Amino acid sequence: MPEHHAFLGASSAHRWLNCPPSARTCQNFPDTKSEYAAAGTLAHSIAELKARNYFFGKLPLKEFKRRLKDLKAQPEYDKSMNAATDMYLDHLREVSLEFQSPPFVALETKVNYSHIAPAGFGTADCIMVGSGRLCVIDYKNGAGVAVDAENNPQMMLYALGALHTYDAVYGDSIEQVRMDIVQPNAGGIKTWETSVTELNRWGTEYAAPRALLAWEGKGEYAAGEWCRFCAAKAQCRARAEQYLALEQEKKEPALLTFSEIGDILSRAQSLASWVKQLEEFALHMALEGNSISGWKAVEGRGSREWIDGTDAAFEKLVARGVPNALLWEQKPVTVAALEKALGKKAFAESAKDLVLTKPGKPTLVPESDKRPAYNPAALAFTPVEE
Ligand code: SF4
Repeated sequence: MPEHHAFLGASSAHRWLNCPPSARTCQNFPDTKSEYAAAGTLAHSIAELKARNYFFGKLPLKEFKRRLKDLKAQPEYDKSMNAATDMYLDHLREVSLEFQSPPFVALETKVNYSHIAPAGFGTADCIMVGSGRLCVIDYKNGAGVAVDAENNPQMMLYALGALHTYDAVYGDSIEQVRMDIVQPNAGGIKTWETSVTELNRWGTEYAAPRALLAWEGKGEYAAGEWCRFCAAKAQCRARAEQYLALEQEKKEPALLTFSEIGDILSRAQSLASWVKQLEEFALHMALEGNSISGWKAVEGRGSREWIDGTDAAFEKLVARGVPNALLWEQKPVTVAALEKALGKKAFAESAKDLVLTKPGKPTLVPESDKRPAYNPAALAFTPVEE
């Protein structure tokens, strides 16, 4: 769930733990919310409605449908959200049944981890407690980057916050903590389990000192993959140095070694998106009257559109003798586009037997990628399956 204004928010913990001064630096930049964030908020509302309906007494069917219909009427809604939130609900159901007796369940609950990070709090999507175990479950709607549950600082802060919040009720009776991420559009369900002892150790020995640095605006700037979600990412010097260091590679021997190539690829991976962010930032600054050395803002290429809209224009064009066939083009949809339009379930029912899944071409990925290394020999003897 998106954080509501905790300075050291759990959802940005990966960034401020790795780069503590980024927390204060980001304060000087506007908070830019993307359309994806709006879609994520809507999907969370649908997920919450379904979960509340299941755990806290069923709403009359008519009322449930009305509320769901209202949410589905939002402009950010797309059909895949229904199946995705069903997957979340199914998972909650399964996890709750794994407890020896029905657990305590809290949905969309504020948890307080201010004993670890000053003024730290977050909103956990689902918490279950019982039989000596705490389970924290987070729904993620995003399709871009698959988020791992293992050692995930957001989840760990939620879990520490939940332990702290419910300490008066459960005390030391909780020994194990399970953290699940349900991300239907990227990687499905990820689970990680650890002990309360280990979690507390991480909190006090690693997270708390770094949170204090972040709170005080101290510590070293450190660029890495966490910069992607940093508001300062375009203008940040540490990030620029990371990329510009490519130019200072040593000149001998004449040919790069494989180890150097690996190192350059790792650092260059996000170079293109960094340059794009820099361009957007410089354009914004130039339009605000700042001088960006060697660059200026000009009017881009214009576009044309029908004055009274497409329908009215086409009617007149046909009347003027333009053949209808020239006005419309028909293109086949891709398998993926049809699946998105129909939703996974309807697609499986009506089209699954028509789809041939071919193995993908070999592609180079960082070693951290979860997929096994390409093995042409093994592939030759493996039947193609979905
Ligand atoms: S862009 Fe990266 S290095 Fe710079 S402040 Fe943000 S997180 Fe730190």
